[in-house]
Amino acid sequence: MYDVAIIGSGPAGISAAVNLKILGKNFIWFSSRASSKKVERAELVKNYLGLPNVTGGELAWTFQNHFEGMNIKLNEKLVTGVYQTEGHFTLLAENENYLSKSVILCTGVQAEKQLDGEEEFLGRGVSYCATCDGFLYKDKKIAILITDKKFEHEAEYLCGLSDKAYVMPMYNGYEINSPKAEIVLKNPVKVSGGMKADKVVFKDCEIDVDGLFILRGSVSPSTLVHGLQSNDGHILVNRDLSTNIKGLFAAGDCTGRPYQYAKSVGEGNVAAHSAVEYLASLK
Ligand SMILES: Cc1cc2nc3c(=O)[nH]c(=O)nc-3n(C[C@H](O)[C@H](O)[C@H](O)COP(=O)(O)OP(=O)(O)OC[C@H]3O[C@@H](n4cnc5c(N)ncnc54)[C@H](O)[C@@H]3O)c2cc1C
Repeated sequence: MYDVAIIGSGPAGISAAVNLKILGKNFIWFSSRASSKKVERAELVKNYLGLPNVTGGELAWTFQNHFEGMNIKLNEKLVTGVYQTEGHFTLLAENENYLSKSVILCTGVQAEKQLDGEEEFLGRGVSYCATCDGFLYKDKKIAILITDKKFEHEAEYLCGLSDKAYVMPMYNGYEINSPKAEIVLKNPVKVSGGMKADKVVFKDCEIDVDGLFILRGSVSPSTLVHGLQSNDGHILVNRDLSTNIKGLFAAGDCTGRPYQYAKSVGEGNVAAHSAVEYLASLK
């Protein structure tokens, strides 16, 4: 069992990891990407203390060098569920369970809008995880919403299992190689059904499916952790970055504006210290 699990590799997650390492805690760290796209993409950063006029690419490199230099290991995995179980947390990441006494969510804010019905049908025909749930749809008709080229191998794996797969890439330059794939260049607006999801709905039509896979690099906080309080898409936190769930902390953009590197780094630090205080209180 780990002391702390951190989710997210943006400035907030890196800051939490660096501080937990210094504080000597046994932690595990996950992120769907080795480095945050939001850091890499900034053209020029002028407000980060000590590094005036740094590019996003340089900042990402500096951050990565920092934690790698401390021998901190990042597990490049999407976490699809955080469950409270008997006084600890169980995290589900790509078909594996990990146990931790506390959790720090540093998941940023989700750029892509959720589909109507996505949360309602999650686990009932909607899945975020190809390797966990793919076999349930062997020889069935599925739809796959894919938001990033890096998930194409997972989409191809699902196509291979299916009878037919409607693949909806949300980016240019897609390359899906499967005879079972039919590319649909439309934006879905809704997933609907009865007991289980059975339709993907577009503005002007709908398709019948047995299941929908959504392959994107993040999961909304309320979907990730059942019962987590949020407001306007941001996780509600106290001054010590604790949430309404005991042992669960949040830091960075996911707790609200301003969306800034310095705020995220500061909150990652505070959340790490608060998690350590929480661990001490368990003794
Ligand atoms: C183009 C651009 C320019 C910017 N310029 C500036 C600037 O000049 N100055 C400034 O202060 N700020 C700037 N920002 C804002 C800054 O990038 C953000 O405030 C900062 O990156 C937030 O850090 P974070 O750690 O909270 O989240 P993020 O950097 O968003 O990182 C979140 C991480 O969590 C991962 N993740 C999410 N969900 C999961 C999950 N379920 N499982 C595993 N991993 C998950 C994501 O893959 C991501 O790596 C800019 C942003 C953009 C987009």
